[in-house]
Amino acid sequence: MPALPASRYDVDRDGLAALLDGEPRYRVDQVWRGLHERLAEPEELTDVPKALRSRLAAALPCALRHVTTSRTPAGDTEKWLWELHDGRRIESVLMRYPNRATVCVSTQAGCAMGCGFCATGQAGFDRNLSTGEIVEQVVRAGRAARAGGRRLSNVVFMGMGEPLANYDRVWAAVRRLHGDLGFSARHLTLSTVGIVPGIRRLAGEALPVNLAVSLHAADDGLRDELVPVNRRYPLADLADACRAYLAAKGRRLSFEWALIDGVNDREIDAERLAAYARPLRAHVNLIPLNPTPGWPTTGTPPAGVRAFRERLVALGVNTTVRQNRGTDIDAACGQLAAAGAVATPVAAPSATPVAAPAGPRR
Ligand code: SAH
Ligand code: SF4
Repeated sequence: MPALPASRYDVDRDGLAALLDGEPRYRVDQVWRGLHERLAEPEELTDVPKALRSRLAAALPCALRHVTTSRTPAGDTEKWLWELHDGRRIESVLMRYPNRATVCVSTQAGCAMGCGFCATGQAGFDRNLSTGEIVEQVVRAGRAARAGGRRLSNVVFMGMGEPLANYDRVWAAVRRLHGDLGFSARHLTLSTVGIVPGIRRLAGEALPVNLAVSLHAADDGLRDELVPVNRRYPLADLADACRAYLAAKGRRLSFEWALIDGVNDREIDAERLAAYARPLRAHVNLIPLNPTPGWPTTGTPPAGVRAFRERLVALGVNTTVRQNRGTDIDAACGQLAAAGAVATPVAAPSATPVAAPAGPRR
C-alpha cells in the first residue's frame, strides 16, 4: 500500500483517481470538487456512497492538527497554531473584514533568511511545507470564514517562511488555489524578502499574482544589516528583477517597509526609498515594526509614521500605512513564532541590533 500523504491536498487529480481505482471518472470529479470547491471533509460528501466516504477519510488525512486559537478582543483577527505530522508547528492568521476575509498562510516551518527583527527568522529554519500543507491552511480558513458568514476572498503568503525559497511547492499551491478553489490571481499575494531568481521565475509564470517585496531599507549598507539576503541579492539586482516582473505582468508592485525608530525612518530614508520606488511605480506599505522577543529596537511612534508617510507622498510615492491587525495576540507581521516549534536557530547576522547609521535626523 502506498504511504499516506501528509495532507489530502498533497494528492493531485491523478493520485485521487488511482486511490479511487475502479470508480467511474465522474466520481473522481465529484470528490475532487467536493474537497476543493466546497471545502468539504470526506465525511461531508453526502453525494458519495457512505462506504467510499469512510475509505476516503482513512486514505486522505488532514495535515493540520489544531493546537490553539488566539482571538483579538474584537474577534476580527484569529490566529491558529497547527501541529504537522512530524511535530513541527506553524501558524496561520484569518483577518475578517465586514464582507470578506483574508488569510495569511505560512510556507515554511521557520525561515532561514535571518532577518533579526522577525520572530520567525529569530527561530531559524526547520523545513519546507508541502503544497498540501499550504493549501490546507486556506481550506481551514475558508471553512472558518464561511461559518461566520463571510467569504474568504484573499490569500497572502506572508506567514512564516520565505515563499520563494520553497518555490515549487508554493507555486503548485498557487495553481491549486486558482484552478481548483477559484481564487483569481489578483486576490493572491506573494511576499518575498527579495530572492531575485525567484522573482525572475515568477515573471515567467502565466498567473499574474501580486508581488510584495519586503524592502525596509533602500541603501545596501543598511539593508545588508536588516535583511541579510541583501548581501546576495543587492538593491540594484532586486530593482532589475522587479522591473522584469512589472514588464511581464503589469501588476502593481508593493514594497513593505517596517518603520524602525531611528533606524529607517529618517528623512534620508524617505528620500532613498522614493528614489528607488518611483521608477518602479511601486506602492509603499508602511507598518511600524511590531515587537518581537529577540529584537529590542522599537517601532516608529505614530507621529513619526505620519511624518514619514507625508514625506513619501510629497516625493511622489503612493503610500499606505498598513492597519496593524492582531498585535495583541502576536499575530501581526513578523510575530509568528509558533511557540514551542522545533527549530534550529540560525546565526544572527549581527550580534546587536542595527544602530542608526550616521545621517541627518528629522
Ligand atoms: N518571508 C516573506 C514573507 C513572510 S514575512 C517576507 O519577508 O516578505 C511577512 C512580512 O512581515 C514581511 O514584509 C516582513 O518584512 C514583515 N515583518 C517581519 N518582522 C516584522 C516585524 N517585527 N514588524 C513588522 N513587520 C515585520
Ligand atoms: Fe523570513 Fe520574511 Fe521573517 Fe525575513 S521577514 S526572517 S524572510 S519570514
